[in-house]
Amino acid sequence: MQAVVLDAPGALAVREIAFEAEEHLVVVQVEQVGVCGTDRAVVDGSVPVRTPRVIGHEVVGRVRGGGPGHLATGDRVLLDPSVWCGTCGTCRRGLLHLCPRGGLMGRDVDGGLADFVTAPPDRLHVVPGSVPDADAALLQVLGTCVHAQRAVPQVAGARAVVVGLGVSGLLHVQLLNAWGAAAVVGVGRSPEKRRLAERLGAAVTCTPDEAAQVVAGETGGEGADVVVEAVGSGATVALAAELAGFASTVVVFGTSPSGVSEAPLHELYRKEVRVVHPRAATGADYDDAIALVASGSVRGAPLVTDRLPLAAAPAVFASWGDRRDRLKVVFGPAASAR
Ligand SMILES: [Zn+2]
Ligand SMILES: [Zn+2]
Repeated sequence: MQAVVLDAPGALAVREIAFEAEEHLVVVQVEQVGVCGTDRAVVDGSVPVRTPRVIGHEVVGRVRGGGPGHLATGDRVLLDPSVWCGTCGTCRRGLLHLCPRGGLMGRDVDGGLADFVTAPPDRLHVVPGSVPDADAALLQVLGTCVHAQRAVPQVAGARAVVVGLGVSGLLHVQLLNAWGAAAVVGVGRSPEKRRLAERLGAAVTCTPDEAAQVVAGETGGEGADVVVEAVGSGATVALAAELAGFASTVVVFGTSPSGVSEAPLHELYRKEVRVVHPRAATGADYDDAIALVASGSVRGAPLVTDRLPLAAAPAVFASWGDRRDRLKVVFGPAASAR
């Protein structure tokens, strides 16, 4: 089968590799694979991985060759990209997504940017026909957003802010609205992404420089009840702390290399801000993400800027910085067919 393989940092190739089916694993024919900053960090070597490594962890495909239990041949499925041991103390507490012996497909084990992938049945979530193909590629990322917002004591009625209007920020804007936030302020530098955030439900948007004034105006000077930080830099975490109100919640969703950011501890202490650092997602989060898209509450399609065949992957990663308008890039046979 064809696969996108990292042979060394920066050396990405599309080539033929052997496909190995195993009896206890379900074979999935890959239809769509989104790529994100994690994939780019794996490819450029800033997240070191053992090579050769098939990359890709945002996978939607079709069950082939029959699957046990809840799966049938032809079912469209979302892959939970977390791998876990199932036996350690963390797994026994039900925190499979945090297994210290586990990891992420496409980084710690081979991924899904390929014609086929295999997975145990408990990592496959059926995607019903009510989810349009055009929206399905965002389901994995949305699952992590669902997981993150579950850590907020109350979204309903909250005056919310999203700092960073990339793919995850734009999903957070929609999810906050779907879960009943009173209003969402979107903060981002790009005018195009601010317009898209407004189209997807942000009540008002502004630049980071304008944010303090805008949020004060929207909240009667009290600050936000919920701030989702979706960038991952010291400056944006500090901005989130500034925009947060008393006894509010800041969700640090963006990930940054350790040691880069200096936490605004006094500001967080002064306002008794609850800071949460959610990671990955559980199976229940993925099922909720699927239901949200199936009901039309959250859209994925407006965030997809590029749909390309697998063969285009090396060139896209090599020239990523040449385009600033990119949001979600999706690879795969189903992607190239439309
Ligand atoms: Zn990703
Ligand atoms: Zn474990």
